Amino acid sequence: MEARAVKQGGRLAPRLFSCCLALSLALGGCGAREQRFQAQFLGPFDTVTTVVGYTKQKERFQEQVQFLHDELEQYHRLYDIYHDYEGVVNLKTLNDHAGQGPLSVDRRIIGLLRCAKEMEALTSGKVNVALGSVLSLWHGCREQALSDPLSARLPDDRALRGAAGHCDLSKVMIDEAAGTVAILDPGLRLDVGAIAKGYALREVCAQLEEQGADQLLISLGGNVCAIGGMDRARTPFSVGLLDPQSGDEQRYLLTLGLQDCTVATSGDYQRYFTLDGVRYCHIIDPQTLYPARHCQSVSVLARDPALCDALSTALFCLSPEEGLALIESLPGVEAFWLLPGGGRRQSSGFSAAVLEGESLLP
Ligand code: ADP
Ligand code: MG
Repeated sequence: MEARAVKQGGRLAPRLFSCCLALSLALGGCGAREQRFQAQFLGPFDTVTTVVGYTKQKERFQEQVQFLHDELEQYHRLYDIYHDYEGVVNLKTLNDHAGQGPLSVDRRIIGLLRCAKEMEALTSGKVNVALGSVLSLWHGCREQALSDPLSARLPDDRALRGAAGHCDLSKVMIDEAAGTVAILDPGLRLDVGAIAKGYALREVCAQLEEQGADQLLISLGGNVCAIGGMDRARTPFSVGLLDPQSGDEQRYLLTLGLQDCTVATSGDYQRYFTLDGVRYCHIIDPQTLYPARHCQSVSVLARDPALCDALSTALFCLSPEEGLALIESLPGVEAFWLLPGGGRRQSSGFSAAVLEGESLLP
């Protein structure tokens, strides 16, 4: 259930540009008020980024979008575990160096790993960026199944259990003063897919805010962050949560009002493979070592994009009851679950953010 920006009172026509950075600028038609602009680019984190902004100057919006793109691209390269980039020490470099002592890394890697440790503790290990060795076994099977469905298979159970012995995040040592990270276990591999987009969004949005950005809505993959609201009165942006079952891009489960707030969604319907009629998605429960099946999707609403991203993945691995208990213990955080049969659950304060949509059962 990816969240999409929806136009107040209507739907945005989805536009996709396959070039690195393309701007589509549209006048909002709101008289003397600020104009509404929209841009979309594909690239950072291998996903689509959409930006909606209200401002008086087109150039100002363009500058903000360019800044966002360039910064996200840098974070993407640093957090990439699959590719090398000339002159960049990234997470692939760190993984390749596991067991071989400390490496000097960019402060954005240290920041991400610190955040990852906090999130692992907060979620009792349900979101664990040291799970890479297990995740790569599932990743390999997914790739194989997608390229040749007849050869689809599950990872070998013994291989999974072997890999699970190399997922101890405390073996990732951060020396903040020295600016280094050491992976003590040679078999440990980092995979930050669960938190990287949210963390990058948090950092870049903070920079944008420092530069005076306001009235900006940024959607990066399944993470949607509002800086301010739609206008000076801080009217919330409308953000639709897509219904994964509709098969129709334009159908929403409900619409949220976002103002200085983020919503992040984790679901089982975008990256998965099927074997013998069973869907195997890309979110793996660190305890069972198998894809979690508690819900179709879960969305988390909070101020901090990094927290939202981490929690949405963690909640996907928890039963709705356990997840609800966690969410209710965190001030300023709300969540919404779409259960396997289509049922819905939500945390106690979630409905305050719902603008329109079907009525929700408790
Ligand atoms: P999205 O695919 O939209 O980024 P998530 O934020 O839920 O969705 O992140 C899923 C990714 O996180 C997976 O592709 C994988 O790389 C990684 N991952 C899967 N399960 C876990 C887990 N339990 N803990 C940490 N990372 C995980
Ligand atoms: Mg996540």
